[in-house]
Amino acid sequence: QAKALGPNRFQFFEQEMQDRVKKHVALEQDLRSALRNGELHVFYQPIIEAYSNEMVGMEALMRWEHPVHGMISPERFIPLAEETGLIGELGAWMFAEACRQVHEWQKRHQVFVSLSVNLSVRQRDKGFGAGMLKQILDESGLDAQYLMLEITENLLLKESDQAIQWLYSLKECGVKLAIDDFGTGYSSLSYLKRFPVDTLKVDRSFIQDLPEGKDDVSLVTAMVAMADSLGIGVVAEGVETEEQRLFLREVGCDYMQGFLFGKPLPAAQMEERLSGSKVAAEPS
Ligand code: C2E
Ligand code: MG
Ligand code: MG
Ligand code: MG
Repeated sequence: QAKALGPNRFQFFEQEMQDRVKKHVALEQDLRSALRNGELHVFYQPIIEAYSNEMVGMEALMRWEHPVHGMISPERFIPLAEETGLIGELGAWMFAEACRQVHEWQKRHQVFVSLSVNLSVRQRDKGFGAGMLKQILDESGLDAQYLMLEITENLLLKESDQAIQWLYSLKECGVKLAIDDFGTGYSSLSYLKRFPVDTLKVDRSFIQDLPEGKDDVSLVTAMVAMADSLGIGVVAEGVETEEQRLFLREVGCDYMQGFLFGKPLPAAQMEERLSGSKVAAEPS
C-alpha cells in the first residue's frame, strides 16, 4: 500500500514536517519580541461565589495578539514559552501587570476581589521565587492575601522535593495556592498532604457533562467532599450552563468560573463590570 503511494507521499510528509518546523521557529522568534512590541495582553475572567453569586475573584489569562496571525491561544504559546525559557520573562511581566491592575481596581472601586495567576513550574528555573514575588507585590501595592498562584497538577507530580520547597517559600509571602486542572493528573492524592494547597480547581472535563454524566456526578461529588474534609476550597472550572451551576451548588461547591458567569475580558471591559451596579454576577 505504502509502495503504491510512492515517494511522493513521503516527500509530502517531509515537506509538511519542514513547514511545521519553520513555522515553529518563526513563531518562537515572534514570541521573543512580542512583549517588547506590546502584543501581549492580560484578560480577566470572573470567579463567582456559589451562594451569593458575587464575583469574589478573577483569573488573569495571557493573550497574544500576533500582528499577522491574530489571537494565538495560550494553549499554543505557553508551551513554546516554556520550551524556550521565555516563560521567565513573560511570567514575571504577567504577574507584575495583573497585580498592579487589580490593586488599582481595588482602590478605585473598593472591591476587594482576589487575583489568580497561573504559575509555570518552569518559572522556578528562571528565578521566580520568594524574592521576586515580594518585589512584585511591593511594587504593585497588592496585599499578598489577595493573590492566588495556580499550578497545574501534572507539573507538580514530576518534580517533588524541590518543588515542595519552592511552593512553601512562595506561600511564606502570604499568597494562596491552587491546584489547577485538578483530576487530570496521574495523582496519588497523597501530594495534597505534602503541598500547602488552599484550593482545588476541578478541571472543565469533569464539569462539561454534568449533571447527566453519571461518572462525572460521582467524581465531582467525591472531589468536593474530599476537599471539604481537608479544609480546602473548590472552584469548578468551565461552568457553562444553569443546570451545571445548580448541580454544583447542590453538592456544595464553593466557587465557580466559566462562560456562564463571563468569558475572559480585556481590562477595560472588566473594569466596566467592576464599576457597574454590582460586582455580583447575575445568574441567567
Ligand atoms: P487554565 O488556567 O485552566 O485556564 C482556564 C481556561 O479555560 C482558559 O483558557 C479559559 O478561557 C477557559 N475557560 C474558562 N471558562 C470556560 C468555559 O466555560 N468553557 C470553555 N470551553 N472554556 C473556558 P485560556 O485562556 O485559553 O488558557 C488556557 C491555558 O493556558 C490556561 O488554562 C493556563 O494553563 C494557560 N495560561 C494562560 N495564561 C497563562 C499565564 O499567564 N501563565 C501560564 N503559565 N499559563 C497560562
Ligand atoms: Mg488557571
Ligand atoms: Mg484550569
Ligand atoms: Mg487548563
